[in-house]
Order: sequence, then structure tokens, then C-alpha cells
Amino acid sequence: MNNNGLLIVISGPSGAGKGTICRELMSHKSSDLELSVSATTRSPRTGEVDGVSYFFKQKDEFRKMIDNNEFIEYAQVYDNFYGTPKKYVMDKIEEGKDVILEIDVQGAMKVKQNIQDAVFIFIMPPSMKELKYRITCRGTESKQDIDKRMGNAYCEVCSARCYDYVVINDDIAKAAERVKCIIIAEKCRLNRSKIDFDSFKEE
Ligand code: 5GP
Repeated sequence: MNNNGLLIVISGPSGAGKGTICRELMSHKSSDLELSVSATTRSPRTGEVDGVSYFFKQKDEFRKMIDNNEFIEYAQVYDNFYGTPKKYVMDKIEEGKDVILEIDVQGAMKVKQNIQDAVFIFIMPPSMKELKYRITCRGTESKQDIDKRMGNAYCEVCSARCYDYVVINDDIAKAAERVKCIIIAEKCRLNRSKIDFDSFKEE
């Protein structure tokens, strides 16, 4: 058995519900599941907490982190930079924790090139109409930002075929359950399951 944890990459268009699914997974969390906290140059939204939602950085601080090779991947998303901290994630994986990265498609493709045995899950909205409705109802983006996010969403949905799994988020609880099943199945497939199969042997 490989004692390392599993790296799980979750992407999907803004408003597809990947953040809510991740929060749902963490709310029933087994002690083995961790959500990585990314660094970003974007400003905090109301209610976001530094070090919990993101590590909020100035552009020059972020550039220094790039120069020091502190990211597994980083990407420019809309007008800001986002990056996955290498040390935090790799330490957790080596401790045997399964780590979720909730990142955009560009970042996911970089992880795919650099890390073996990561599992890639794409969260799809039930329809583009529903996606626009969800982004608009969120009320956190301007009309211009909504249009930008919708434009980007069409490109991102085309990337779904590069992922190992596509989960349609028609219902949060069901979508989270599907993601949980994928994680359990992949842990078995990659020989990282902590199920004690020997305890099922005939006495
Ligand atoms: P938001 O600003 O809405 O929190 O996130 C915008 C986009 O950036 C989302 O698609 C989110 O998944 C992505 N994102 C968040 N953290 C990272 C990261 O560390 N790396 C990359 N490549 N994308 C990220």
C-alpha cells in the first residue's frame, strides 16, 4: 500500500457550485480530507477571511512567491493571480491526507503535466441558463464581470473532456456524494485505501 494521500483537483465554471460541493465534503469531513488554501492577488469579498478562504497577497508578494518556486501551479484568472502553495499541499499528501485543489482549468492542466496520480474532476452546471441564473443571484459580481465569467464558462466547459470525471451539479448533496464516491474508488484503484482488507479474511 502507498501511504501517501490522494491529490484531487476540482474545476468547473464560476457558479457551477464547486466551492459549495467542497464545503459540503468538508462538513462531513473524515480527518483525512483537506482543502488547500490558495494564494491570490484579488481583494477579499465580504465574509472572506485571510488564511481561510485564501491567502490574500499584494502583486509583488505573489511575484516573489513565483520566483521562489513556492507554487505547484499558478495562473491568471480574470484580472488576478491565483496559486497553489507547494509545501502545504505536499506535506499533507505525505502525511497521508487527501487534498482537494479547487482551481481553474489552466491550473489543473499544469498539475496534470507535473503530478502523477492526481484525480481530476470537472463540475458541470445542469445548463448554461442555470449557470447564468446562479452567478446573477450570487450578487457578488457586476454585470460586466458576469458577462466575462459566462464567456469564460463556455471555454471551460469544452475542457471537461480533459478530466477523469465529470459531475453534473443538479443537486448539491447528490453531486457531493458522487464526488465522495469517486474519491473512495480512486483511493482503492491507486492502492491508497485505508480499508483493512486483511480483517475480512476467513478465520
Ligand atoms: P474566485 O475569485 O471566484 O474565488 O475564483 C476564481 C477562479 O480561480 C475559480 O475558478 C477558482 O477555482 C480559481 N482558483 C482558485 N484558487 C486557484 C489556484 O490556486 N490556482 C488556480 N489556477 N486557480 C484557482
